[in-house]
Amino acid sequence: MTDYTAVDEKLERLVYKFIHDRVHRDDYGAVYELLGVVRVTLNIEYDKDPMTRNLGPEFVMDAEKEADGSIVLYDSGMTHREVIDFDYSREGETYSFIHWYMRKDLEISEADRARYRSIADKLYLIHSILIMRRMLHFARHHDTQSGIFNGVGIRASYRQAIAEEPSVKYVVLYIDLQNFKYINERHGSKTGDEVIVQFSRRLTTYLSADEGVGRLGGDNFVMYVRTENLDKMLHRLESFAVNDLQTAPGKIFNLASWIGVSSDDTEDDIAIRIEHASTAVMFGKQRLRQKVVFYSPRFTEILENNRRIAALFKPALVKKEFNAYFQAKVDMTTGKIVGFETLCRWIHDGEFIFPDQFIPVIDRMGLIHELDLEILRLTCESMVRWRQQGLKVPVLSVNFSRKDIFIPDIEKQILSIVKEHDLEPCDIEIEITETSSETEYERIMDFTKTLKDMGFRIAIDDFGTGYSSLSLIHNINADVIKIDKSFVSNIQEGSKAEILVESIISIAKKLDMEPVAEGVETEEEGRHLLKMGCITAQGYYYSRPVDFAHTTEILQSDPYRPIGKQD
Ligand code: C2E
Ligand code: CA
Ligand code: CA
Repeated sequence: MTDYTAVDEKLERLVYKFIHDRVHRDDYGAVYELLGVVRVTLNIEYDKDPMTRNLGPEFVMDAEKEADGSIVLYDSGMTHREVIDFDYSREGETYSFIHWYMRKDLEISEADRARYRSIADKLYLIHSILIMRRMLHFARHHDTQSGIFNGVGIRASYRQAIAEEPSVKYVVLYIDLQNFKYINERHGSKTGDEVIVQFSRRLTTYLSADEGVGRLGGDNFVMYVRTENLDKMLHRLESFAVNDLQTAPGKIFNLASWIGVSSDDTEDDIAIRIEHASTAVMFGKQRLRQKVVFYSPRFTEILENNRRIAALFKPALVKKEFNAYFQAKVDMTTGKIVGFETLCRWIHDGEFIFPDQFIPVIDRMGLIHELDLEILRLTCESMVRWRQQGLKVPVLSVNFSRKDIFIPDIEKQILSIVKEHDLEPCDIEIEITETSSETEYERIMDFTKTLKDMGFRIAIDDFGTGYSSLSLIHNINADVIKIDKSFVSNIQEGSKAEILVESIISIAKKLDMEPVAEGVETEEEGRHLLKMGCITAQGYYYSRPVDFAHTTEILQSDPYRPIGKQD
């Protein structure tokens, strides 16, 4: 005989506790025990329940589940005989079932059955709200698309792993897919989504129970694995193919990743470790062009320095902290100066900041044209001042970054600066480096043609270090090809560099362009270049880049002598 007064009392207390406190399994377990219920399961048809229709079963993934997908709400471990079902429906559709497994020796009367439904309903409400809470928790910790952890989840999971087993050492990986954007563009975002889901799910299968993976959004993932499993994991990530997609049947997608590793296990703040790993990815991607990069504190130093430079740039422009320095280009057969290249020097608080430190930063900020136009202005001013002193000034070259070619009307701006100084375009040579992408390629042809038509001289800088060297010189009507100093400093007799330089010189001449060797540091290098047919040289052998006053002296004294030709 069931004591319904006791059941009601317990239920009442349960509801009170549920509202004001936390309920435990034991709290509703006590009610089920009085009723003779030994086990309770719930089946939800997600697609029919308006509450979960759009969420899908992943949302209760962490709940205890049976093989058939039903969720176990209570289990006393005792054996049962009869199962009583309660169904729940909304808008005419049944979306969930509760199953009560009744104690084997229990005598159930009709009167009992009549009372069950209202008790089951109350318990159902409590269970549903508990499940909702679990869903909310799940949603806060998981990525809805892939079902794996999100940023919050992976951090919580890491902290828990560390708390449970403090002696285990982990590495933290930041994974950024290399070609995902391409898959999205080429095959559509539905396929992209499927690739992400497959990739995510497969990553989880590579992990042991105390390791974790999460998706931070887009194609960025974080993973923590035991230090001893790192090599294996890197190996697995190296060649990762995804296939059998519903949206792209029969296709195979090879996924390559940029991977940053935080291996410093003395740092226990996971947020910091993730940041380190992500910094390492950024360095691998943008600077080192290296797939796997281990974080080093140097990276953070560099980033901080870059931030400092970024903040200082605009004010420095206003305060006129940028200076034009000049480096002579010399005809080695006569010792005559045939030009100068203007190189930028930033003098901040009395200290020099060199181009390699700030040009890439400003370039990335998209502000390099402001600097380049300023250096052009300074170059023009210098030329005017030298001419006023009665000096004969050769062509002056100014560097323009590849980014500049995308600034609207940049050619007009260049021309108007020259005109403002009453100079002619033929007084100025524009140095531009090779391109690396197709869009740049089209634009650079446009840019150089416009400038040529205006009357400027064009030099292709750092020739041989870019991607499209040969087709570029074929399509661009340049006056000068500057042979990169990395070749020049390696042109020992019989070296590969020697062969390359020789070829560059001969191609340049055939295309009616003048080869200029950069970074010539010794007389021997000069002589060697002469022998190969390159007449013009720029480098420390003649002069370092020097300031206006020093350049004035060079112009006045004409100090260089011919290099003796050797047969
Ligand atoms: P770049 O255009 O290839 O300039 C030549 C660089 O080689 C200069 O470095 C110059 O000082 C250095 N150099 C010249 N002769 C020798 C030599 O014999 N040995 C060695 N080891 N080095 C030599 P710098 O002035 O530090 O400039 C570095 C780069 O920064 C330049 O390479 C150029 O790409 C960029 N840059 C400099 N000024 C500007 C500017 O006003 N605008 C832009 N966009 N880039 C600039
Ligand atoms: Ca240059
Ligand atoms: Ca150069």
